[in-house]
Amino acid sequence: MTILWVVIGLGIVCVGFLIRKYMNTHKYDYVQLNLHCKNCGDVTNGLKCSQCENEKPSKNY
Ligand SMILES: [Zn+2]
Repeated sequence: MTILWVVIGLGIVCVGFLIRKYMNTHKYDYVQLNLHCKNCGDVTNGLKCSQCENEKPSKNY
């Protein structure tokens, strides 16, 4: 029974590690996409790009 518990423990650790690794990678990509502007690539820190936001109204006028 001891070996069975060890196998179960290793399985839980492996699955948890894979899920944690996937979550961290997914989270990192999500943050990286939001940190940079998609149009000009400038750093926006998750906010809307000031340069692109300023360019849109000027084109409409
Ligand atoms: Zn921009």
